[in-house]
Amino acid sequence: MSVLELDEVTKLHPGSPPVAALRSVTLCIASGEFAAVVGPSGSGKSTLLAIAGTLERPTSGSVRVAGVAVDAMADHELSAVRAHAIGFVFQQFFLVPTLSTLDNVANGLLYRGTPVAERRKAARVALDAVGLTHRLEHRPSELSGGECQRTAIARALVGTPAIILADEPTGNVDTAQGAEILEILWGLNATGVTVVVVTHNREIADTLPRVVALRDGVVESDVRRR
Ligand code: ADP
Ligand code: MG
Repeated sequence: MSVLELDEVTKLHPGSPPVAALRSVTLCIASGEFAAVVGPSGSGKSTLLAIAGTLERPTSGSVRVAGVAVDAMADHELSAVRAHAIGFVFQQFFLVPTLSTLDNVANGLLYRGTPVAERRKAARVALDAVGLTHRLEHRPSELSGGECQRTAIARALVGTPAIILADEPTGNVDTAQGAEILEILWGLNATGVTVVVVTHNREIADTLPRVVALRDGVVESDVRRR
């Protein structure tokens, strides 16, 4: 069963001439996959992830998430799809500097309307899963880059999403911390979570079961191993 389906997705950004970030991309990610999206800077990787995650709408083509067509959905319906099905991880972490690690993660459940005590309880479990039980009351400025990204991963997984979409999750951390982040993503994948990771790091991509390569907004190759 596929959890993400892009059918002839084109994304044009306005300008003269307009920029085609994606050109008629058709891609299907099956439940339980762990896939990398690679390609040079500007090839459309972030756009692909944003459209797959319903953060952006395509100019044409259609998108299905967990088997459901999202094209005609209103913004509030898309928010609900994201809140229940998708966890996002970004290169820049996007943690709130004034909040503790615990509350940054608990905020991952805000859109669900979960009561605060329950949010914090789930946040503790998620932080335990990424090895940060000893950092609950720290602020992001008191954490290493790797710990910030692990916090962001905990925030992504606190709602037990079916899909994790990560855009250059190791882009701002050193090699050892990057390896830890990959380990965590492998662990999530082992529990059945579908993971799609954008990376320009070919060494990382080559360790993953599937590598989708983009160039100029087109799928240049799509290789599965194992
Ligand atoms: P990547 O993540 O592979 O570096 P992006 O998906 O960010 O690529 O961008 C693909 C292309 O679309 C690039 O040429 C980029 O400049 C352009 N682009 C992305 N977002 C916008 C935007 N909001 N407005 C105009 N052009 C954009
Ligand atoms: Mg990008």
